[in-house]
Amino acid sequence: MVETLSIAVIGAPGVGKTSIIRQFIYNDFSEAYTPTRSRYVYRPSVILNGNMYELKILDVPPISSFPASASQEWLDLRCRGVRNANAYILVYDICCVESFEYVKMIKQQIVENRYAHTSEVPILVVGNKRDLQRQRFMPRRAVSVLVKKTWKCGYVECSAKFNWHVVLLFKELLGIAVARGMRQNHTSIRLQGALQRNRCTVM
Ligand code: GDP
Ligand code: MG
Repeated sequence: MVETLSIAVIGAPGVGKTSIIRQFIYNDFSEAYTPTRSRYVYRPSVILNGNMYELKILDVPPISSFPASASQEWLDLRCRGVRNANAYILVYDICCVESFEYVKMIKQQIVENRYAHTSEVPILVVGNKRDLQRQRFMPRRAVSVLVKKTWKCGYVECSAKFNWHVVLLFKELLGIAVARGMRQNHTSIRLQGALQRNRCTVM
């Protein structure tokens, strides 16, 4: 049976969400900025450690807040599927502090709105535009420690422009998501061995 995993990609406008997804799926990058106006769903299949997964990647257009209720989600087309995603990628631009503040707000709202009802959902914070690193607003180590230790989220930096760490970030998130799902199914031992091999293939 092929497992389907839905991943919502959220972040402030212009941080590179669409670029990351398109680089991951199509090996494609555009310098021109075309704002994403409506929600877009990508459905790649990937193989991680010999297992196939169907991903449902939601490219979420700018939203002012995480939908607080199911009805709010259904009233706003941009948010469809966001509340029930299996995992989140929260993208910010390492040169733009406001985009980091946005990610912080969304992360907090995910915690408030979801954790009361469901088990802990994997959240990966992604610092994009690593190629512009001289203009970054905070040292990598400081952000990484804050996100990992205080927020208890995963952290990866990438450059969608140069396809640097793009596959890695999906691999990282999938690894955490699968490990948590598997742990619930009591088959963690088999997966731990598989994760060490650390393989991920986009089909
Ligand atoms: P979105 O609004 O978050 O979906 O952002 P886009 O993916 O549309 O990208 C916004 C702009 O940032 C575009 O002009 C991209 O070419 C540019 N961009 C995206 N990723 C990178 C990156 O890693 N480095 C640099 N230098 N520019 C990027
Ligand atoms: Mg976009």
